[in-house]
Amino acid sequence: MWKWIILALAAYALYRLFSNDWKKKQEKSNDKTEMERKVAAGEMVKDPECGAFVDAAGTITVRDGDVVHRFCSYDCRDAFLKRLEAGGRTLPERTKNDAA
Ligand SMILES: [Zn+2]
Repeated sequence: MWKWIILALAAYALYRLFSNDWKKKQEKSNDKTEMERKVAAGEMVKDPECGAFVDAAGTITVRDGDVVHRFCSYDCRDAFLKRLEAGGRTLPERTKNDAA
């Protein structure tokens, strides 16, 4: 009889352990949801180079036609421009500068 009670307690302890883990994971995904909400609201934008989220009011930007890309750092902006050029693309402003 005691064997079953101990087994039940052990099972319960395991269950608690896993449900705590699950709760922690839920909290983490809530953080992500908050980030996604900000992105959806346009408060945060994704750095197209490194994938980090940056404030939509950030000042490190590159205008590509109608799209304005925002970057977390000048390193990312320069890397992005290099990548565009490597792909045979230049940005409108640069093309203009080259022509002038
Ligand atoms: Zn970046």
